[in-house]
Amino acid sequence: MNDEELRKYLEFYRDLGVTSVYLRTAPAPPAETPVPPPAPAAIPKLETPKVESMFESIELPGLEPANDTLEAIRADIGDCKRCRLCEARNKIVFGSGNEQSRLVFVGEGPGADEDASGIPFVGRAGQLLTQMIDNTCKKEGIPIERKDVYICNVVKCRPPENRTPMPDEMEVCGQFLARQLTVIKPKAICALGSTAAKALLGTKDGVMKLRGNWTKWRDIPVMVTYHPSYLLRPYNQNAKREAWEDLKKVLHYVYD
Ligand code: URA
Repeated sequence: MNDEELRKYLEFYRDLGVTSVYLRTAPAPPAETPVPPPAPAAIPKLETPKVESMFESIELPGLEPANDTLEAIRADIGDCKRCRLCEARNKIVFGSGNEQSRLVFVGEGPGADEDASGIPFVGRAGQLLTQMIDNTCKKEGIPIERKDVYICNVVKCRPPENRTPMPDEMEVCGQFLARQLTVIKPKAICALGSTAAKALLGTKDGVMKLRGNWTKWRDIPVMVTYHPSYLLRPYNQNAKREAWEDLKKVLHYVYD
């Protein structure tokens, strides 16, 4: 391959976004062929393509309908049969609380009590969440209670045996969560547990790694913390302390 062919070859890969190559030693020629003296490998200098700046200028349109409302989203959900979770559910659990709230909590999905009542976080985990919000606000001098924030879940129907929602269930229901968050447009989101973190951030990282630090869903700050069900387990004292810290951080960010 001469220099010109090599240049074209490398340009082809550069256009595909490949910015580094490595040289493999050429196989030794047959013994009878005179071996030419080794030539220094002349690789034409490649300019790194400015792909990042190209993407920075592109604004992707939102998929949510213009002038969306929570009522319209609930109406679109209707008597949903979009995934298998409809088969065993009693009530669709859409969300509850202050629809103009500056803070939204996102959980995983309804449990038995929520499935029966149609209201998120009313069972044991829900009672703990209520206490955490109310007590922390009182202690920190923040004049709000649970009723002043908005609470919803990634999936709106109870998974059988309270299993973790499957990726396709999260994807189907995730469009409604995205619309809820877009309509409410809170100042911050608190993601409760790994399912909420995965749905909002698209990450496989666990709560232990994500918690305590701000990330973003679109342009809205997200704080990941432990799910209250996890905190109900008796051996998680340290997690409890960390969850209070995370909650304080979110509440002060939103309400100070
Ligand atoms: N766990 C959740 O994730 N959501 C609820 O609504 C109740 C329990």
